[in-house]
Amino acid sequence: MSNGDAPGRRTGLFIGRYFGIAFYLDASWFLIAGFVTYELAFVMFPNEVPGHSPAVYLLLGVTAALLFFLSILLHELGHSLVSQRCGIRVPRITLLFIGGLAEISREPDDAKTELKIALGGPVVSVILSAAFYVLHLGSTALHWIPIAHVCGWLAWTNLALAIFNMFPGYPLDGGRVLRALIWAKTGRLRRATYITSRIGIGFSWFLIVAGVAMLVKQYWGGLSFLLIGFFLKSAAESGYANAIQREILGGVRVRDLMTANPATIPDSLPLNLAVEDYFLSGHHVAYPVCAPDGEFRGLLRLDFLKEVPKEKWPYVSAGDVVAEKSAETLRIGVNESAARAMRLLLAPELSRLAVIENDRLVGIVTRHDILHFIEIHTELED
Ligand SMILES: [Zn+2]
Repeated sequence: MSNGDAPGRRTGLFIGRYFGIAFYLDASWFLIAGFVTYELAFVMFPNEVPGHSPAVYLLLGVTAALLFFLSILLHELGHSLVSQRCGIRVPRITLLFIGGLAEISREPDDAKTELKIALGGPVVSVILSAAFYVLHLGSTALHWIPIAHVCGWLAWTNLALAIFNMFPGYPLDGGRVLRALIWAKTGRLRRATYITSRIGIGFSWFLIVAGVAMLVKQYWGGLSFLLIGFFLKSAAESGYANAIQREILGGVRVRDLMTANPATIPDSLPLNLAVEDYFLSGHHVAYPVCAPDGEFRGLLRLDFLKEVPKEKWPYVSAGDVVAEKSAETLRIGVNESAARAMRLLLAPELSRLAVIENDRLVGIVTRHDILHFIEIHTELED
């Protein structure tokens, strides 16, 4: 699976950096890793290749589980290397309970790139499946029966991984392939995303219902169907919401959305007056601070004020406070894309950005401005 929705920072155990990509193990992974190892070492291998000691089964189980998760990482690496070749950076690959997740830094700009990235993972899985099958045949011929079983199982799981991922529902790889094909044929990304995310949502409901049915019959593997179903459902829904935003914001500049000539606080104004004259009367949570010649100094946010004791307010100027804060994350150029402003504004503590042209403040753009713009255009088009 690959994901271009740039989800919020997840925590996880850092395992290394290869090909410029940071690899992480999510906390939820340890649970599934333990479960898979247990099933292989204590249930499957003792049944299939009887007559060995528990230590041998444990060794087989751990080896097979490690190679299984390595296979998933290689699948994600397949997506990621294609993506990087197409000029789209992949900052991170995470192993989760549902498998792997390659976080690509942005969605592809054209159908062909989307198609290549989507196929990169399943192609790796099919190659791995074939390789393990050859090893299976070789070790069978040599009568290395336990090793033949491990290789046979890995050949089968990699094939199953490719088949599952090629189901044509977004955000599964097959859904991205179908989306790219519809996109290429019709030129309409939003329509293509709508169709494939519907199929994806339908498929996730099937997984959820199947999971419940299995749990009712006390087959605990149903739990993973349930979790994967819910995960896919929410990813399919947010994928469609993203496609709408991208289409509507495509070609729109910050200039088109901003509020021009906003109220500004002079940099020499003491905080007590800034609070009285601006925050208490103007109802905004942040104001731009400017020098007398109009040069932008920074954005004074309500939460910055809380860091200065009240009795010091008359002796501290607005300019002093913003000088200590990095203004870089709070400003955006007037000709930058609205989509970039939206991405910045999705940070939870950020609701407005100062709009800058030649170091001078020319406007303010808020999360509300952009959402409002999207809402109006969605209603007009449907
Ligand atoms: Zn994939």
